[in-house]
Amino acid sequence: MGSNGNPYEDILMTLERAAQKLGLEEDDYILLKYPERELKVSVPVRMDDGSVKVFEGYRVQHSGARGPYKGGIRYHQNVDLDEIKALAVMMSLKCAVVDIPYGGAKGGVTVDPRKLSKAELERLTRRYATLLYPLIGPRIDIPAPDINTNAEVMAWFMDTFSTLRGRLTPAVVTGKPIPVGGSLGRGEATGRSIMLMTREIAKKTRVNLEGATIAVQGAGNVGGTSAKFLQEAGCKIVAISDVSGGVYSEDGLHVEGLLDFLRAERGRTLADYAEPNLTRLSNEELLSLEVDILIPAALEHEITGKTAPNIRAKIIVEGANGPTTGQGDEILEEKGVVVVPDILANAGGVVVSYFEWIQNLQNVRWEEEEVNEKLENIMVKAFNDVWDTAEKAGGSLRTGAYMLAVDRIVTASKLRGIAN
Ligand code: NAD
Repeated sequence: MGSNGNPYEDILMTLERAAQKLGLEEDDYILLKYPERELKVSVPVRMDDGSVKVFEGYRVQHSGARGPYKGGIRYHQNVDLDEIKALAVMMSLKCAVVDIPYGGAKGGVTVDPRKLSKAELERLTRRYATLLYPLIGPRIDIPAPDINTNAEVMAWFMDTFSTLRGRLTPAVVTGKPIPVGGSLGRGEATGRSIMLMTREIAKKTRVNLEGATIAVQGAGNVGGTSAKFLQEAGCKIVAISDVSGGVYSEDGLHVEGLLDFLRAERGRTLADYAEPNLTRLSNEELLSLEVDILIPAALEHEITGKTAPNIRAKIIVEGANGPTTGQGDEILEEKGVVVVPDILANAGGVVVSYFEWIQNLQNVRWEEEEVNEKLENIMVKAFNDVWDTAEKAGGSLRTGAYMLAVDRIVTASKLRGIAN
């Protein structure tokens, strides 16, 4: 049974089920149920009107068993400690599934960035980075972008860390702009991995990608880029949505034009987008469209006990982190919907973050083709590992991914031992 609400409890339940399927004793995996560190900070910001506002921020370092902590920073009005803890666990699992040498962490600030000017956002980021300074570093904990944080925010973060440390330290964050140590291919890496995982699952389930119908929830970094790559791969993107609602076209949307429209101005939404033969629909309606493949790539907890019964897609590839609740997952399994889980499908972002970090530490630059080729190799290998594990266990791909990840983390922990 899912916990129906608390994201941290949901993920622990899935983790526990995977550990039991692996035949592990509780002593072997108990430490995975507790984050190693939880930091809560108060971030004072001088607003443009001269007043001072204080925002709550967090950084949770879940597991460092396999390497330095790694995970994004989210700015959102709903950010709370349980959400950040769940996302930190997910990062530990994600890095283990794709077998890159990182542990898991996540950070966030409870703020609606749409209500802040750019200068206020910069001051918020610099103060938050200062408060995190003692606990982060290129060999300790390496943040990255997440919802509402982007390359520019990472540049401010890196600059503040470098100033405090007295030397330029690009490897302290990933997802930076290219001129200050970002990697080619990083911006589109998550969308690229969604496309690759969609391609692989389509092969396994004998769905022809050419002309396959796809609905994408979310038109940001992940949703927008996934839609673009999948259209290039021959799919028909019939629906896409954002915070304002969705648009639908039976013949397939003009994805490139739609994304250009959204990017042209900060704060633009699909509500103002128009093209011929377009109909509007709500986010809930988008989820229940009769399509071959559904890609939830907005927020968590969209596929729930309430929305899952209406889902008519054959395949779901999870672009967002945690879009499906425990209850939603049970219903999808009963209905026979094949789900490529978040910790596998959207891992492309952290994989290319890893490449960016390597390039920064070695002071080298890789060509974009090299980045994309290495990404594809890692993603396809991870997909096959997950598929084989799930098949052997007779479980879903989510179960397979969790089993693989838990096994790798527990093995590393056991080898290192617990110092008393
Ligand atoms: P983003 O801020 O670029 O885009 C988010 C999108 O979701 C926007 O189109 C926004 O309008 C839409 N949205 C917001 N609220 C919504 C709502 N209530 N209903 C429908 N749509 C809504 O963020 P992103 O980087 O694309 O991240 C999306 C998801 O993917 C998150 O769960 C994030 O954790 C996950 N993710 C991101 C990356 C990455 O590299 N950016 C990597 C892995 C996972």
